[in-house]
Amino acid sequence: MLKRLLNLFGSTNLTRATLSTHKMPLKGLSHNGIKVCSELQSAGYEAYMVGGCIRDSLLGQSPKDFDVATNATPEQVRKVFRNARIIGRRFKIVHVRFGREVIEVTTFRGHHSQGKNKEAQQSEEGLLLRDNVYGDISSDAIRRDFTVNALYYDPMTETLLDFTNGLKDIQSRTLRIIGNAEERYREDPVRMLRAARFAAKLGFSVEASTGDLVAPLAELLDNIPSARLFEEVLKLMLSGCATATLETLRQYNLLKHLFPGVEPLIDNSPFNQRFIELVCINTDKRIRQNKRVTPAFIFAAFLWLPLQAEMARLIKSGMKPGEAKNAATGSVISQQLTRTAIPKRFSMPMRDIWYLQHGLERKQPKRVIEILSHQRFRAAYDFILLREDAGEELSQTGQWWTEFQHTNETRQDEMIEALKTETPRRHRKRRRTTPKASDTDTRNTDSNE
Ligand code: ATP
Ligand code: MG
Repeated sequence: MLKRLLNLFGSTNLTRATLSTHKMPLKGLSHNGIKVCSELQSAGYEAYMVGGCIRDSLLGQSPKDFDVATNATPEQVRKVFRNARIIGRRFKIVHVRFGREVIEVTTFRGHHSQGKNKEAQQSEEGLLLRDNVYGDISSDAIRRDFTVNALYYDPMTETLLDFTNGLKDIQSRTLRIIGNAEERYREDPVRMLRAARFAAKLGFSVEASTGDLVAPLAELLDNIPSARLFEEVLKLMLSGCATATLETLRQYNLLKHLFPGVEPLIDNSPFNQRFIELVCINTDKRIRQNKRVTPAFIFAAFLWLPLQAEMARLIKSGMKPGEAKNAATGSVISQQLTRTAIPKRFSMPMRDIWYLQHGLERKQPKRVIEILSHQRFRAAYDFILLREDAGEELSQTGQWWTEFQHTNETRQDEMIEALKTETPRRHRKRRRTTPKASDTDTRNTDSNE
């Protein structure tokens, strides 16, 4: 009991919120989001647009998705809309579907210490295991993560409601956690990843206690289920700001809790660092160009470095290259699965991308057509270009495949004929342009055979 009281008083700014309102029309909000608010209000409930959509709209950026907060319970929300579905276990939310757009509707949350045992549950480390305590708008505001994410907007009256001084933080471009940083990170360590993502994406400066506590508490991420961390990795990498996010993740010591095998390899190798940076730069570029980015490619790239390192280690210990490749693939994937899930629909193509690297490099005359028609050729080809861009010397293999896939059949036949005479020469030992000892881990030499 005493502990619970102390908890309450220890987080005074978590239990009290003062409201300021601002009349202002906001642009770029979803018509469907506005419709959800209007219908909930007509049914007699409170309803506001909230979170990233209001933050982004105030910053003049286009919001990614639209969230609505209401005092209606999930069951009450479902009754108002025909196309609504209750989802979620940890947090019950309602998805209201309009064609391809989904508006996420959440019921105002209360402080977890106000709930009965069944509605809120906290582990010994402070991790919130369940959090379905309902409350009012002011308690909802202080349960949110950052002040800039806790602004509510009523589209009917064009009024902004600010309980946490979020508007001031938007204006001064500051990312500030709501309440006591340590407590909030312990409740949900994913907030640390969100801090890294928003700092990078918004280019905001991070308020001292919001940032300072992340590195010391980073290991709390190890308590998060791997399926949730997989989803978070996708958000981090697909935000369009993966390059800046990689930097903040490293700065806050978070990367090693997502990719434990990768961090030590990039720490002491400029080549490896460049490789991972290029993965992020390429991903950001593809997103800007509205091109598809598959998680399989991202995971293939991040885990490529530990794969090469493990293969090199096994070969050095006397294992045959073919066996070493299989064993390294298995152990690198199992190590990664201790941190993030990799659903089969992504891990299979990831293995294909790795597997095809060797074939792309060897260019065996009998196999090149088969490789070209492989379902994953395009991803594997992009991957080899990435390796060359990062400085790996692969005898212009990428360029050869660029020409081969775009040319006509006659020229393709000529290229295959030319390979037949070239083959012995191409199989001589390859050289890297970055010959630092610590880089040798990533080398993809003929030992791949
Ligand atoms: P994005 O642009 O990535 O969608 P967002 O801020 O909208 O950013 P969402 O994941 O869509 O992020 O979440 C919507 C809102 O829900 C957030 O703005 C925040 O108010 C709240 N929220 C989300 N995750 C958490 C969390 N782990 N802890 C507290 N509040 C959260
Ligand atoms: Mg959002």
